Amino acid sequence: MLLNLSTTHEPATDLGYLLAKHPQKLQSFELAFGRAHVFYPQADARRCTASLLLDIDPVGLVRGRGDGSEGPLAQYVNDRPYAASSFLAVAIARVYRSALSGASAGREALAQTAIPLEAEVPVLRARGGEEAIRRCFEPLGYTVELAPLALDARFPEWGASPYWRLRIAGCVRLRELLSHLYVLLPAIDGDKHYFVGDDEVDKLVAKAGDWLAAHPQRDWIANRYLKRRRSLVRSALARLLDAEEDDVDRAEQAREAAEEAIERPLSLNEQRMGSVLSVLRQSGARSIVDLGCGEGRLLGLLLKEKQFERILGVDVSLRALDVAADRLHLDRLPPSQRERLQLVQGALTYRDRRLEGFDAACAVEVIEHMDPPRLPAFERNVFEFARPRLVVVTTPNAEYNANFADLPAGKLRHPDHRFEWTRAEFAAWAEAVAARRGYGLRLLPVGPLDPALGAPTQMALFTRDA
Ligand code: SAH
Repeated sequence: MLLNLSTTHEPATDLGYLLAKHPQKLQSFELAFGRAHVFYPQADARRCTASLLLDIDPVGLVRGRGDGSEGPLAQYVNDRPYAASSFLAVAIARVYRSALSGASAGREALAQTAIPLEAEVPVLRARGGEEAIRRCFEPLGYTVELAPLALDARFPEWGASPYWRLRIAGCVRLRELLSHLYVLLPAIDGDKHYFVGDDEVDKLVAKAGDWLAAHPQRDWIANRYLKRRRSLVRSALARLLDAEEDDVDRAEQAREAAEEAIERPLSLNEQRMGSVLSVLRQSGARSIVDLGCGEGRLLGLLLKEKQFERILGVDVSLRALDVAADRLHLDRLPPSQRERLQLVQGALTYRDRRLEGFDAACAVEVIEHMDPPRLPAFERNVFEFARPRLVVVTTPNAEYNANFADLPAGKLRHPDHRFEWTRAEFAAWAEAVAARRGYGLRLLPVGPLDPALGAPTQMALFTRDA
């Protein structure tokens, strides 16, 4: 299998410095599964191409595996020596190690500069077809050229194969291009040749942490890259999404009960859900997105009301989403009900197109789980990009904590809360958001009202004209 990297950035032969491979030499490297060779079919000042040729030993590959799962022939006749896959990714990491890390002896500044680069992969298997390939590379700013490969050129009637010739071109840093290829080629190919273990997650985060988190196909890529090993997918995504949200997941898991126990005498949770539900009902909204839906308590209530035709629950915690799916008996709902509700994993502090197009959004007891410096990102995501007609936000009223007998003074209600605001603090935030984003605002207390301290929960209703 072959990977050609080219540049037209002059002098193009600087590519040799960037890859740490001299254009005039043929160099070879021993790998566990074969040999890799680097050579330059073209190296002049205008255009320079480095070829990485990977020579895989197909017999060595299956020797010792012996599971015979694909029949005896498949053991020896397979596409692995030819199609770009995780083998090529391993070769990239080995042979172009310094370039992948952004280093270059002699051209340090160029290594950090976006330059016109092209990558050509003569054979890439994509069972998901052309679209799967485009969806991976185009959001990263590449122009993508794809040519289908016939099963056999001599027998056109056999039709197309699942293989493609791929060429991508873009103005990027070499390190970025290599990192994109390192993650995306195996994800597209979807068939890892080695056992997917915990260290794979580390590799994925290390190689792709700075771009995969914001990629629209993030979940698909991580799923495929890690070959749908669920537990690995979880930790990879959580870490990509944000270390902070990863904490949320663990903190929630360990201490879920704490907040409830403190608030229980009031059954505050029920009052809160009831208040939010009645606001949503009265607004006439037909589609609702529940931001930070947690274990789906509100979703269950929304499902019971026919008014809500389309309901989306979003949370960063897969554990919470699993619990929600169980609670709501998602797998047993009749199709007419099932179609109304969707659960997705997502971080609310990244722009997410899936949140767009809803009449109303609510974030019930969620903002206090975010670090204050992340709130502006949440604000943009919800109020600038998604922009529903109605946004309902609830959060604890810190002043009221004095009424909770079990809560020591100065402590927060939940160990994962990053803050709890007084009424004045919440009002200041909400007023600023409403003013910046062109929303009207109403602030309402939820729960029994203490004459001096207010209610235990505070609720903000943001509305904008249709
Ligand atoms: N709304 C639910 C859950 C509240 S707990 C209820 O009232 O029952 C807060 C939830 O917000 C948790 O499930 C947590 O995983 C989620 N969360 C916290 N920070 C988040 C973020 N940045 N993106 C998405 N979800 C987040």
